[in-house]
Order: sequence, then C-alpha cells, then structure tokens
Amino acid sequence: MTKFKKLILSSVLAIMMIISAGCEALIDPVTELELHFIDVGQGDSTLILTPGGYSMLIDAGDNTQGENVASYIRSLGISRIDVLIGTHPDADHIGGIDDIIDSFEIGDFYMPRKTHDTKTYEDVLLAAKAKGLKIKAAESDKAIAFDPDSSALFLSPENKSYPDNNAYSAVVQLTYKNSRFLLMGDAEIENEEDMISKYGDSLSSDIIKLGHHGSATSSSEEFLDIVNPSAAVVSCAYKNKYSHPHKEILSYLEENDIPLYRTDEQGTVVFYSDGESVSVNMEDAGSYTYRKGN
Ligand SMILES: [Zn+2]
Repeated sequence: MTKFKKLILSSVLAIMMIISAGCEALIDPVTELELHFIDVGQGDSTLILTPGGYSMLIDAGDNTQGENVASYIRSLGISRIDVLIGTHPDADHIGGIDDIIDSFEIGDFYMPRKTHDTKTYEDVLLAAKAKGLKIKAAESDKAIAFDPDSSALFLSPENKSYPDNNAYSAVVQLTYKNSRFLLMGDAEIENEEDMISKYGDSLSSDIIKLGHHGSATSSSEEFLDIVNPSAAVVSCAYKNKYSHPHKEILSYLEENDIPLYRTDEQGTVVFYSDGESVSVNMEDAGSYTYRKGN
C-alpha cells in the first residue's frame, strides 16, 4: 500500500456540529466510512458509521460526557448502536456508557474480562442488566460482527493477567476495502509487543488512534514503525494534568512526517474513507496548525 498517496488531508470547515434548530441527520445516508473522534475532554469516544447503515461506538467519555455523546449521535439521526465497546473499566472510557445504553437500541456490547470496584463500573453493569444486554468478552483474535462490507477484529487483550486496567484495553482494527484503522484504547507497550509478535505487518494501518491519549506508556517506536500510519489521532483535554500527548510521541510523529489530529486543539475530528483515500474534517479547524512535514 502506498498510503501517503492515498491520504488526502483537507482542512475544510467542519460540517458535523452545525448547531441549527431542528437540524437533524446531516449526513443521512452516510456515503463513506466515517470515524468520529468525539471531543469528550480527557477521555475517549469514537463513533464509526458505514455506508451500509451500521454503527459502532467505542467508549463514551467520562461520567460527565455520556449525555453529550448521546446527543452528538442523535444529531446524526442515529437511534441504534450495532456494536458498543467499552475498552476497559477506567472512568474516562466507560463513564458515559450507561447513558448510551439508556439512550439507544444496542446490538452487541463488548468489554474485556476485567472488573473494577467503582460506582462507574457498577453503573455500566446495571444499565446493561436493565436492558437485558449480555456483555461479550473483548479479546484478541475475536472478529466483531459488523458491516459485512468491512471487517473488525480485536487484537488485544490476551487471555492473561495484567498489572493494570489500561493493559486490558480492547484494541480494534477496522478494515474497509483498502483502508485500515487501528484504535488502541489505552493499550500499553506490553500489549504492543504481544501484537507485534502475533500480527506483525498486518498491524499496518492508515490511521491510528494512539494508545492512552498519546502517553509514552504506549506507542513504542517499534510498534509505530510497523503500523506506519499516514496520520495519528489523540483524544485528550486541553492542558490536561497528565501532559498528554507526551513529547516523545510528538517528536516521533514529527520526525516521521505523520500529521497528528487532537481533540484538545481541533475539537471533534472526523475521518472519511471511500475505501481508497482518507480525508479529515475538524470541528474547530481555525485552531489547527497544519505541519507541512511532507
Ligand atoms: Zn484513558
């Protein structure tokens, strides 16, 4: 794949969040695969829509963000989430999931086999139970039933014990025709090492959502070299207390001419793929400084 040629980056004005009374279903029907990295402050929430009419939501931000994510999804005219994934039990990922379960018809619901003794986690279990949703295990090598025109696979976690919640993160690789997306949750370098030995060159992807909000506990050089992305995304809050994304990661991206899109600077970021070329829209294009590295 000559991915650099395929990637068309255009910073046109965002159309996704037009606030207009009674304005709904702006992109109905969806004509390309769409990945919406929703601005949820410090946290993650990624919505995937397909031309076939399928939807997948990976994480829903923290407890304060569930309603925002739900209204964003509703504003696109969507009433059903075919696949809902909570990557791991940390609050900045699953905090809003109970609101999503309450608000939409849900198809399959996946989380890794890792419990957590927090009210946030319990709220998710209670919401699922109230809706009669069974939780399916997110684990490496498991295919996700989704749009038949695409394929979605969990690459992590392995069925073993890890020292912390982040390492249990569900990692999803989504393939749509000749374009591929790697969504890392908060997976760590240990997980990356497992994925390298297991999947090797098939980790190669056009776009990567960097693990753990761009922290240096993820995104080893070896891993990013193999993924060889055309662009990267980080979901984090402006001036967050963790200093995400970390400068080592920014340096790597800069040295390798990989443009970075970040929700703290650009708001919600949306990628579109027709299966060959990938383009991007940003909610707040005005604050974006495009680095012409290539
Ligand atoms: Zn996180």
